[in-house]
Amino acid sequence: MKKLVVGNWKMHGSRASNGELLQGLIDANLAQSAPNADVAVCVPFVYLADVASKLSGQSIAFGSQDVSAHKQGAYTGEVAGSMIREFGAKFAIVGHSERRSYHGESSQLVADKAKAALAEGLTPIVCVGETLAQREANQTEAVVAEQLQAVIAALGAQLADIVVAYEPVWAIGTGKTASPEQAQAVHAFLRAQLVGALPAAARVPLLYGGSVKPDNAAELFAQADIDGGLIGGASLKAADFVAIARAAA
Ligand code: PEP
Repeated sequence: MKKLVVGNWKMHGSRASNGELLQGLIDANLAQSAPNADVAVCVPFVYLADVASKLSGQSIAFGSQDVSAHKQGAYTGEVAGSMIREFGAKFAIVGHSERRSYHGESSQLVADKAKAALAEGLTPIVCVGETLAQREANQTEAVVAEQLQAVIAALGAQLADIVVAYEPVWAIGTGKTASPEQAQAVHAFLRAQLVGALPAAARVPLLYGGSVKPDNAAELFAQADIDGGLIGGASLKAADFVAIARAAA
Protein backbone atom coordinates (compact mmCIF):
# COMPACT_ATOMS: atom_id res chain seq x y z
CA MET A 1 0.00 0.00 0.00
CA LYS A 2 1.22 3.55 -0.77
CA LYS A 3 2.19 5.72 2.17
CA LEU A 4 0.17 8.86 2.84
CA VAL A 5 2.25 11.96 3.61
CA VAL A 6 0.24 14.99 4.74
CA GLY A 7 1.59 18.44 5.55
CA ASN A 8 -0.05 20.48 8.31
CA TRP A 9 0.89 24.09 7.69
CA LYS A 10 -0.79 25.20 10.93
CA MET A 11 -1.11 29.03 11.09
CA HIS A 12 1.86 29.73 8.85
CA GLY A 13 2.28 31.26 5.43
CA SER A 14 1.16 34.08 3.21
CA ARG A 15 -0.26 34.05 -0.29
CA ALA A 16 3.23 34.70 -1.66
CA SER A 17 5.10 32.14 0.47
CA ASN A 18 2.42 29.48 -0.08
CA GLY A 19 2.78 29.92 -3.82
CA GLU A 20 6.54 29.40 -3.58
CA LEU A 21 6.18 26.38 -1.32
CA LEU A 22 3.65 24.73 -3.62
CA GLN A 23 5.76 25.52 -6.67
CA GLY A 24 8.64 23.70 -4.96
CA LEU A 25 6.41 20.64 -4.48
CA ILE A 26 5.16 20.79 -8.06
CA ASP A 27 8.71 21.13 -9.42
CA ALA A 28 9.73 18.03 -7.45
CA ASN A 29 7.41 16.00 -9.69
CA LEU A 30 6.33 13.80 -6.79
CA ALA A 31 4.21 11.46 -8.92
CA GLN A 32 7.48 10.26 -10.49
CA SER A 33 10.05 11.03 -7.80
CA ALA A 34 8.01 9.77 -4.84
CA PRO A 35 5.88 7.06 -6.49
CA ASN A 36 5.20 5.29 -3.19
CA ALA A 37 3.59 8.27 -1.50
CA ASP A 38 0.25 9.97 -1.83
CA VAL A 39 0.87 13.58 -0.81
CA ALA A 40 -1.43 16.27 0.57
CA VAL A 41 -1.23 19.61 2.35
CA CYS A 42 -3.69 20.87 4.98
CA VAL A 43 -3.85 24.64 4.88
CA PRO A 44 -5.55 27.56 6.65
CA PHE A 45 -9.15 27.99 5.41
CA VAL A 46 -8.50 31.37 3.82
CA TYR A 47 -5.93 29.86 1.46
CA LEU A 48 -8.11 27.03 0.16
CA ALA A 49 -9.01 28.92 -3.01
CA ASP A 50 -5.39 29.81 -3.84
CA VAL A 51 -4.20 26.30 -3.07
CA ALA A 52 -7.00 24.73 -5.14
CA SER A 53 -6.04 26.85 -8.10
CA LYS A 54 -2.29 26.23 -7.75
CA LEU A 55 -2.75 22.47 -7.37
CA SER A 56 -5.29 22.12 -10.17
CA GLY A 57 -4.19 19.22 -12.40
CA GLN A 58 -1.43 18.21 -9.95
CA SER A 59 -1.18 14.94 -8.05
CA ILE A 60 -1.04 16.73 -4.67
CA ALA A 61 -4.28 16.72 -2.67
CA PHE A 62 -5.22 19.30 -0.07
CA GLY A 63 -7.45 19.83 2.91
CA SER A 64 -8.32 21.95 5.92
CA GLN A 65 -7.03 21.82 9.49
CA ASP A 66 -10.46 21.76 11.12
CA VAL A 67 -14.15 21.59 10.17
CA SER A 68 -17.36 22.54 11.93
CA ALA A 69 -19.44 19.77 13.47
CA HIS A 70 -22.48 21.61 12.09
CA LYS A 71 -23.90 21.52 8.58
CA GLN A 72 -24.68 25.25 8.41
CA GLY A 73 -26.29 27.93 10.50
CA ALA A 74 -25.63 30.57 13.12
CA TYR A 75 -22.11 29.46 14.09
CA THR A 76 -20.04 32.62 13.74
CA GLY A 77 -16.46 31.95 12.77
CA GLU A 78 -16.96 28.29 11.87
CA VAL A 79 -16.45 26.70 8.46
CA ALA A 80 -18.73 23.92 7.21
CA GLY A 81 -17.51 20.77 5.50
CA SER A 82 -19.58 21.64 2.42
CA MET A 83 -17.65 24.93 2.09
CA ILE A 84 -14.31 23.17 2.30
CA ARG A 85 -15.41 20.51 -0.14
CA GLU A 86 -16.59 23.16 -2.59
CA PHE A 87 -12.94 24.06 -3.24
CA GLY A 88 -12.05 20.46 -4.08
CA ALA A 89 -10.46 19.63 -0.73
CA LYS A 90 -10.08 15.94 0.08
CA PHE A 91 -9.11 16.00 3.77
CA ALA A 92 -10.02 17.74 7.02
CA ILE A 93 -7.80 17.33 10.06
CA VAL A 94 -9.90 16.95 13.21
CA GLY A 95 -8.84 16.76 16.85
CA HIS A 96 -5.31 18.05 16.43
CA SER A 97 -3.82 18.32 19.92
CA GLU A 98 -3.52 22.09 19.49
CA ARG A 99 -7.29 22.28 19.07
CA ARG A 100 -7.96 19.83 21.88
CA SER A 101 -5.77 21.81 24.28
CA TYR A 102 -6.13 25.46 23.16
CA HIS A 103 -9.78 25.26 22.15
CA GLY A 104 -11.02 22.70 24.65
CA GLU A 105 -12.21 20.25 22.01
CA SER A 106 -13.56 17.07 23.59
CA SER A 107 -13.32 13.62 22.07
CA GLN A 108 -17.08 13.78 21.44
CA LEU A 109 -16.77 17.06 19.52
CA VAL A 110 -13.89 15.62 17.51
CA ALA A 111 -16.04 12.59 16.67
CA ASP A 112 -18.91 14.88 15.62
CA LYS A 113 -16.51 16.80 13.38
CA ALA A 114 -15.27 13.56 11.80
CA LYS A 115 -18.87 12.60 11.09
CA ALA A 116 -19.66 16.05 9.63
CA ALA A 117 -16.59 15.82 7.37
CA LEU A 118 -17.61 12.39 6.06
CA ALA A 119 -21.14 13.62 5.41
CA GLU A 120 -19.71 16.19 2.99
CA GLY A 121 -17.32 13.81 1.23
CA LEU A 122 -14.20 14.88 3.12
CA THR A 123 -11.85 12.32 4.65
CA PRO A 124 -11.26 13.22 8.28
CA ILE A 125 -7.71 12.83 9.58
CA VAL A 126 -8.46 12.11 13.23
CA CYS A 127 -5.57 12.98 15.53
CA VAL A 128 -4.99 11.16 18.80
CA GLY A 129 -2.09 11.24 21.22
CA GLU A 130 -0.97 11.44 24.82
CA THR A 131 0.90 14.12 26.75
CA LEU A 132 4.28 13.45 28.32
CA ALA A 133 2.70 13.24 31.79
CA GLN A 134 0.21 10.65 30.50
CA ARG A 135 2.97 8.60 28.87
CA GLU A 136 5.04 8.67 32.04
CA ALA A 137 1.99 7.52 34.00
CA ASN A 138 1.60 4.58 31.58
CA GLN A 139 -1.70 5.96 30.32
CA THR A 140 -0.85 6.13 26.62
CA GLU A 141 -3.13 3.29 25.55
CA ALA A 142 -5.99 4.41 27.78
CA VAL A 143 -5.78 7.98 26.42
CA VAL A 144 -5.69 7.09 22.73
CA ALA A 145 -8.37 4.42 23.25
CA GLU A 146 -10.73 7.00 24.79
CA GLN A 147 -10.06 9.43 21.94
CA LEU A 148 -10.61 6.76 19.30
CA GLN A 149 -13.62 5.21 21.04
CA ALA A 150 -15.68 8.37 20.60
CA VAL A 151 -15.01 8.22 16.85
CA ILE A 152 -15.77 4.49 16.68
CA ALA A 153 -19.10 5.05 18.45
CA ALA A 154 -20.05 7.97 16.19
CA LEU A 155 -19.15 6.57 12.78
CA GLY A 156 -20.39 2.99 12.50
CA ALA A 157 -19.48 1.53 9.09
CA GLN A 158 -17.92 4.83 8.02
CA LEU A 159 -15.06 4.10 10.39
CA ALA A 160 -13.36 2.40 7.44
CA ASP A 161 -13.28 5.72 5.54
CA ILE A 162 -11.15 7.80 7.90
CA VAL A 163 -7.45 8.37 8.43
CA VAL A 164 -6.01 8.26 11.95
CA ALA A 165 -2.90 10.17 12.97
CA TYR A 166 -1.04 9.18 16.12
CA GLU A 167 0.64 12.34 17.37
CA PRO A 168 2.21 12.11 20.81
CA VAL A 169 1.80 15.65 22.17
CA TRP A 170 5.32 15.60 23.60
CA ALA A 171 6.75 15.07 20.11
CA ILE A 172 4.86 17.83 18.27
CA GLY A 173 7.08 20.75 17.36
CA THR A 174 9.57 19.78 20.05
CA GLY A 175 12.21 18.03 17.97
CA LYS A 176 11.58 14.90 20.08
CA THR A 177 10.36 12.04 17.92
CA ALA A 178 8.82 8.86 19.22
CA SER A 179 11.24 6.05 18.45
CA PRO A 180 10.08 3.83 15.60
CA GLU A 181 9.40 1.11 18.21
CA GLN A 182 7.37 3.44 20.46
CA ALA A 183 5.32 4.66 17.50
CA GLN A 184 4.83 1.16 16.10
CA ALA A 185 3.58 -0.13 19.47
CA VAL A 186 0.86 2.54 19.64
CA HIS A 187 -0.02 2.07 15.96
CA ALA A 188 -0.46 -1.67 16.48
CA PHE A 189 -2.72 -0.91 19.44
CA LEU A 190 -4.79 1.55 17.38
CA ARG A 191 -5.05 -0.94 14.51
CA ALA A 192 -6.36 -3.59 16.90
CA GLN A 193 -8.94 -1.16 18.30
CA LEU A 194 -10.13 -0.24 14.82
CA VAL A 195 -10.32 -3.81 13.54
CA GLY A 196 -12.00 -4.96 16.74
CA ALA A 197 -14.71 -2.37 16.14
CA LEU A 198 -15.09 -2.97 12.40
CA PRO A 199 -13.08 -5.52 10.35
CA ALA A 200 -13.16 -3.22 7.27
CA ALA A 201 -11.31 -0.59 9.31
CA ALA A 202 -8.15 -2.65 8.77
CA ARG A 203 -7.63 -0.43 5.73
CA VAL A 204 -7.61 2.83 7.70
CA PRO A 205 -4.24 4.52 7.12
CA LEU A 206 -2.41 5.17 10.39
CA LEU A 207 -0.12 8.19 10.16
CA TYR A 208 2.58 9.08 12.65
CA GLY A 209 3.11 12.75 13.51
CA GLY A 210 5.59 14.43 15.79
CA SER A 211 8.85 16.00 14.57
CA VAL A 212 9.07 13.85 11.45
CA LYS A 213 12.09 15.04 9.45
CA PRO A 214 13.93 13.87 6.33
CA ASP A 215 16.44 11.99 8.49
CA ASN A 216 13.96 9.97 10.56
CA ALA A 217 11.09 9.46 8.10
CA ALA A 218 12.35 6.30 6.40
CA GLU A 219 12.82 4.43 9.67
CA LEU A 220 9.37 5.44 10.90
CA PHE A 221 7.70 4.56 7.59
CA ALA A 222 9.39 1.14 7.64
CA GLN A 223 7.32 0.06 10.66
CA ALA A 224 4.59 -2.45 9.93
CA ASP A 225 1.68 -0.31 11.13
CA ILE A 226 2.93 3.14 10.12
CA ASP A 227 1.20 4.02 6.86
CA GLY A 228 2.59 7.52 6.48
CA GLY A 229 3.07 10.77 8.33
CA LEU A 230 1.41 14.00 9.39
CA ILE A 231 4.14 16.59 9.05
CA GLY A 232 4.09 19.99 10.76
CA GLY A 233 7.26 22.09 10.76
CA ALA A 234 9.02 20.13 8.04
CA SER A 235 6.09 20.61 5.65
CA LEU A 236 6.88 24.33 5.45
CA LYS A 237 10.13 23.74 3.58
CA ALA A 238 9.63 22.24 0.14
CA ALA A 239 12.97 20.40 0.19
CA ASP A 240 12.25 18.76 3.55
CA PHE A 241 8.67 17.81 2.70
CA VAL A 242 9.77 16.37 -0.64
CA ALA A 243 12.52 14.37 1.07
CA ILE A 244 10.00 12.96 3.53
CA ALA A 245 7.65 11.95 0.69
CA ARG A 246 10.58 10.28 -1.08
CA ALA A 247 11.42 8.37 2.12
CA ALA A 248 8.28 6.30 1.53
CA ALA A 249 9.83 3.18 0.01
C1 PEP B 1 1.69 18.47 13.65
O1 PEP B 1 1.43 19.60 13.96
O2 PEP B 1 0.77 17.75 13.23
C2 PEP B 1 3.07 17.98 13.76
C3 PEP B 1 3.30 16.71 13.70
O3 PEP B 1 4.04 18.95 13.94
P1 PEP B 1 5.64 18.74 13.87
O4 PEP B 1 5.94 17.87 12.67
O5 PEP B 1 6.18 20.14 13.71
O6 PEP B 1 6.06 18.10 15.14
